[in-house]
Amino acid sequence: MSKDENQNLPMLPIRNAAKILDISVHTLRMYEREGLIIPFKKESSHRLYSYSDIERLKCIRRAINESKISIAGIKTIYSMIPCYEIINCSQTERDNCKAFQEHEQPCWTYNHKNNPCHKRECRSCEVYNNYSECGKIKDLIKNVLSQN
Ligand code: SF4
Repeated sequence: MSKDENQNLPMLPIRNAAKILDISVHTLRMYEREGLIIPFKKESSHRLYSYSDIERLKCIRRAINESKISIAGIKTIYSMIPCYEIINCSQTERDNCKAFQEHEQPCWTYNHKNNPCHKRECRSCEVYNNYSECGKIKDLIKNVLSQN
């Protein structure tokens, strides 16, 4: 198994993840409720986190503590990820998609009945996985703009 695959394995119970990040379990649960992170869920409803999740959460913590971005601000930044370009949605699909119309929540927090994400697993989706850092989101937007 490659190092990258290892990074994405569900390894850490919530207490261990919180300890690594030096935050409380309560805070970690709140990030999940707010849609900033999608942990693995076991049948027992216990959450597990990968080392990639830890890196994502470190980035979120830096945005909050160093850049003074609120949780609502981070959600707005995530909502700007042009998922419709990555998934390649048609104009009709865009017109009918709440994630396309609104700008307050990341796309993965919406209910996706009757649209191209209907059968997609957000946790393993490239939109969720590849753009957890503001710098990457900005590069993506620049890339999309330069193609249009
Ligand atoms: S599958 Fe989920 S993360 Fe991917 S574009 Fe759709 S809603 Fe967003």
